[in-house]
Amino acid sequence: MSLKTFIVLLGPPGAGKGTQAQVISEKLKLPHISSGDIFRENLKGQTELGKLAKGYMDKGELVPDDVTISMIRDRLSRSDCSTGALLDGFPRTPTQAEALASLLSSLDGSVKAVPYINVPEHILIERLTGRWTCRSCGQVYHEKFNPSKVQGKCDFCAGELYQRDDDKAETVTRRIHVYLEQTQPLIDFYQQRGVLLEVDGTLSIEQVSVDLLTALS
Ligand code: ADP
Ligand code: ADP
Ligand code: ZN
Repeated sequence: MSLKTFIVLLGPPGAGKGTQAQVISEKLKLPHISSGDIFRENLKGQTELGKLAKGYMDKGELVPDDVTISMIRDRLSRSDCSTGALLDGFPRTPTQAEALASLLSSLDGSVKAVPYINVPEHILIERLTGRWTCRSCGQVYHEKFNPSKVQGKCDFCAGELYQRDDDKAETVTRRIHVYLEQTQPLIDFYQQRGVLLEVDGTLSIEQVSVDLLTALS
């Protein structure tokens, strides 16, 4: 039995992965690792990785596998992942999933559970086009479903809220199609390995958290 516990959150863009990851990561004491957040930090810091990723992210396409895999390899080798991690947004292709499996076996870990947050497409569009993100801490809100206390300001750090460029209607549609083509096959991949746990992501944020924690316990 491998020692370290890795959990992969699966689901389309807008399913609530980031929202739920915050809750689960605290309860299970596992660091929350979001590939999208790492790319956005690199974009902000104008690193080489950020410059490379930008073109893909703006179009709603996936950043190439080799670049993404090496970024995650670096991140998972850090000391806060000594007991495992909660992965949000990675893997997103079968190649990434295969690479993760071999990387984890070299780190004496494995993917123990893959909660799949299931949400139909028409709901995703409304969620993504109404999403507001904190520029300072990355906290996510929704103008209708999960508004901040003060409009335009983060509840936690008072940072300014903004709408991500890739949350515009055209890019959202593209991202959902990219998900259906490239990421949806991972549902079968993890089901075949006996680790998939499906939850209904259309329920309230609080109910989805309860269902996820029950499924994981
Ligand atoms: P993902 O990380 O999967 O792309 P997010 O966690 O960023 O998704 O959520 C997308 C948007 O939907 C955010 O605006 C968030 O506040 C909102 N949201 C998340 N979960 C729910 C839910 N269960 N019901 C309604 N809105 C939700
Ligand atoms: P969401 O959860 O709303 O789909 P993310 O924040 O996870 O969005 O990702 C934003 C963008 O970052 C993606 O559209 C893609 O360009 C890039 N990205 C994030 N994770 C990956 C990944 N595992 N592989 C390739 N590209 C990724
Ligand atoms: Zn904030």
